[in-house]
Amino acid sequence: MAEDGQKVLTDVSKCKNCFVCVAECLQNACKKYGSSMSIQEVVREIAKDEIFFFHSGGGVTISGGEPLSQPKFVSEVLRECRLLGIHTALETSLYAPYENLEKVLPWLNLLYVDLKHMDKELHRQWVGQDNSLILENLRKIDQANISLEIIVRIPLVPGVNDSDVNLSATAEFCKSLEKIQEIELLPYHRLGVETYRNLALDYELKELVPPSQEQISERASFLLQQNPGVPIRVEGAFVTLD
Ligand code: SF4
Repeated sequence: MAEDGQKVLTDVSKCKNCFVCVAECLQNACKKYGSSMSIQEVVREIAKDEIFFFHSGGGVTISGGEPLSQPKFVSEVLRECRLLGIHTALETSLYAPYENLEKVLPWLNLLYVDLKHMDKELHRQWVGQDNSLILENLRKIDQANISLEIIVRIPLVPGVNDSDVNLSATAEFCKSLEKIQEIELLPYHRLGVETYRNLALDYELKELVPPSQEQISERASFLLQQNPGVPIRVEGAFVTLD
């Protein structure tokens, strides 16, 4: 409780994850996200939708956080899914040792890879690490003798990575990838603000305004012009040049 007795304050640095507050909160203001599960429990949960996957052509996508930080667990789940005939996909930053990737690649049909920025230093400035490992991993995967489809995703953030220079460099890099199926633009949105607030974290882009539909369409067309050989998808629809 704050000194004026008006407000409950949480110091997350002291939290021990006991979740007593969740159990005791009458207003459901405290929530627990996620739970610990074994490989078999996860596979059983996925397999409940097996018939639906079969009829819809769907499958399972393992996302994160960063799934490559748990390569053994993820590879086992993917392996079990493939043995059940379920299509498998992984969403990753590719910021991981290649040996982690080698564990999951044999069990994957599709890889979603984020390319946030092509400039090494700007990548370090915005993401915290440079992009060398990511680009190197992506080249290696593309050249590996495996059957796999790759979809490159670009989170389109105004003033950060939506410049002509960066989109041209991304298109140029993607030209060299033989396994690429499409590029997906993910326009910046503010849905994460609430999550950051709930976690008592500082949302550093609080002043940033999401791009308008016109800006998104213009940037998507520009990207397609740089590399017409790779389809561009935005919000579920493929972009065409007029
Ligand atoms: S989970 Fe809730 S009750 Fe447990 S230490 Fe953290 S804040 Fe306190």
